[in-house]
Amino acid sequence: MPIDATAPYDDQNIFAKILRGEIPNKTVYEDAFALAFHDINPQAPHHILVIPKGPYVSWDDFSASASDAEIAGFVRAVGKVAREAGFVEPGYRLLANVGMDAHQEVPHLHVHIFAGRKLGPMLAHD
Ligand code: AMP
Repeated sequence: MPIDATAPYDDQNIFAKILRGEIPNKTVYEDAFALAFHDINPQAPHHILVIPKGPYVSWDDFSASASDAEIAGFVRAVGKVAREAGFVEPGYRLLANVGMDAHQEVPHLHVHIFAGRKLGPMLAHD
């Protein structure tokens, strides 16, 4: 079920539980601002999720309310994960779904990193 990106943060969401260590994850990278881990249902040969450590529902919430340090730290972490995985030369795709029409399912901001094959056109058509 897609979520309402304007709803308040729900600290029982699955990524909040991952951040608290209540649910296991396959961690790729962690620092003060971000946690990166493998997506449980990969849509490409490499599919990594990067989430901020703070409680932000979506890209909208994060870009409006996070501190400059959190934003800089998170953006640098996304770039570092992709760079250290060797994705820059072959190429990769970033995606952040926001709300209903984009089918955001987890109400904690996450950036998808896809890599490892030709990713094709940007959007699937109906
Ligand atoms: P979105 O549709 O953008 O909200 O994407 C949510 C993503 O979270 C999907 O790609 C799911 O496969 C992934 N996901 C859900 N639960 C877990 C989990 N426990 N560990 C890793 N990835 C997960």
